[in-house]
Amino acid sequence: MALTPLIAGNWKMFGSRAMASRFAEGLTPAALPTGPDLLICPPAALVGLVASLFAGRGVSVGGQDCHAKAEGAHTGDTSAALLADLGARYVIVGHSERRADHGETNATVRAKAMAALAAGLTPILCVGETLAERDAGQAITIVRSQLQDSLPDGATAGAVVIAYEPVWAIGTGRTPTVADIAEVHAALRAVVGDGVRILYGGSVKPGNAAEILAVANVNGALIGGASLAASDFLAIAAAAPTA
Ligand code: PEP
Repeated sequence: MALTPLIAGNWKMFGSRAMASRFAEGLTPAALPTGPDLLICPPAALVGLVASLFAGRGVSVGGQDCHAKAEGAHTGDTSAALLADLGARYVIVGHSERRADHGETNATVRAKAMAALAAGLTPILCVGETLAERDAGQAITIVRSQLQDSLPDGATAGAVVIAYEPVWAIGTGRTPTVADIAEVHAALRAVVGDGVRILYGGSVKPGNAAEILAVANVNGALIGGASLAASDFLAIAAAAPTA
């Protein structure tokens, strides 16, 4: 089954109102590729503004994280329902920076993915091995168990997106070989079946996007650094194969 690729940007803790306006100005009809779905996940405080700026410009908006509970006394956290109310359609859960900085376990990630689904958002569920795990030959075992233990109940095809992001490739300029990416994506496909988009993330740039996006079972990309400028983000999107 041909899946429409998803090209998703994660601005992490970067961005400002001015930067969001500049980005929106770059989203001209002529610059926008018609094939892939496009998504930007700004910091939570910018989600509402970015949703307004991008309205009608062909790029969806998502959150970078949500709380596992629908609402409550959780100072500083953001609910999935609020993200949806601000105009988000997706939310990243289980990014390795959240797992490392905030001690998020597979159980936490699973609860967040279920909260996202309950709020009508599509969770983008991230998995990925560390360099030590890859060097020990455990990459497949680790990502498979991360996925199995964090997949939400009742996740029908199309309701979730998976992102394979080797921890050692994020922000480092290093990427796995296409053979390694293909091997991991095939293992993840065996868990989720057809109909679920599996993105690759980790140092995707305009220069390597075409090669990575052409790998079997790669249905798009999750992009950090190269999503901060509309020109780089759109150059990557233009490299996506048409479904
Ligand atoms: C990410 O943050 O998910 C990511 C893949 O970052 P980068 O593209 O900068 O490696």
